[in-house]
Amino acid sequence: MVAEPHFARVALIGVGLIGSSLARILRRDGLADHIVGCARSEATRKTVIDLDIADSVTDDPAEAVKGADLVVVCTPVGAYRAIAERMGPALSPGTIVTDVGSVKRTVIDALRPHMPAGVHLVPGHPIAGTENSGPEAGFDTLFEGRWTILTPPAGTDPAAVEKIAALWRHGGSMIEIMDADHHDQVLAITSHVPHLIAYTIVGTATDLEDVLKSEVVKFAASGFRDFTRIAASDPVMWRDIFLNNRTAVLEMLGRLMEDITVLQRAIRDGDGDKLEALFTRTREIRRGVVDAGQHIPPRPPGWPPRRRATDR
Ligand code: NAP
Repeated sequence: MVAEPHFARVALIGVGLIGSSLARILRRDGLADHIVGCARSEATRKTVIDLDIADSVTDDPAEAVKGADLVVVCTPVGAYRAIAERMGPALSPGTIVTDVGSVKRTVIDALRPHMPAGVHLVPGHPIAGTENSGPEAGFDTLFEGRWTILTPPAGTDPAAVEKIAALWRHGGSMIEIMDADHHDQVLAITSHVPHLIAYTIVGTATDLEDVLKSEVVKFAASGFRDFTRIAASDPVMWRDIFLNNRTAVLEMLGRLMEDITVLQRAIRDGDGDKLEALFTRTREIRRGVVDAGQHIPPRPPGWPPRRRATDR
């Protein structure tokens, strides 16, 4: 029996953490007759073949999408425009083009002008990841219990949207359909600004004088340690996210800076009630995240469990 959804030829443009995780799911569940992996570097293409997560590889997006009924763009979002220009003329009517990029409005703006008539664009974003990159970093349970947000532009063929939703459900994802601008606002505060804070804190610690710096590393308590994990995320991917979600990130950052100023004053004034009231409120939010099952970062099978008192 053929597994559903089924694709004759899937082109993965970019086969890093996310693309290779998807490839593993396609393989595991028999969802594709042929998987072609497209990567710039020879090393990545060789690894993809060695891992047996694609049937063929190429460095040319146009060659990859020829005859494909599903194309998934899985590169940093800054590369989308050049990829769309290259692959657009080689796409066939009926093909579904989707992606996994962490911002959605500029992604639609980059891809849509290059979609020939009859090609269905269904942008997507799995809210799952780790700080690791490359094809070796992927695993087939990455998306289990995580949300995938789809942001199809108005008028997109519902059958194409459903086919992409069904693909993510195979990976264990739950599906939410959302407007692209709304997606970018939500992710600005839940993901992009937190990453910016982590990069800033770890950067500040790095700038400290040498003695203090070595002690920061030696005595990294859970707060700083967790920030270093987030701040180890791929620099190019995150550069592109901030450059492509400027409006929402700057708006949320402005609000955050106002709130930090309020806390700064509370500390200076010795206003313990204000501090305690906020910390009590935020503890409730954490309980909500735990109750929703979204508190443990995804890890490959066999990874040591990360249980701590602070998980609750
Ligand atoms: P990754 O592991 O670094 O893999 C990126 C892939 O894209 C590699 O195959 C790389 O090829 C290729 N690539 C990079 N720059 C390119 C360019 N300029 N032109 C063509 N190909 C290029 O990245 P990832 O973590 O899978 O992230 C991929 C996408 O998923 C990003 O858009 C990101 O926003 C989104 N996303 C990431 C996460 C996460 O936590 N990592 C979560 C959700 C969504 P080479 O290896 O040959 O350079």
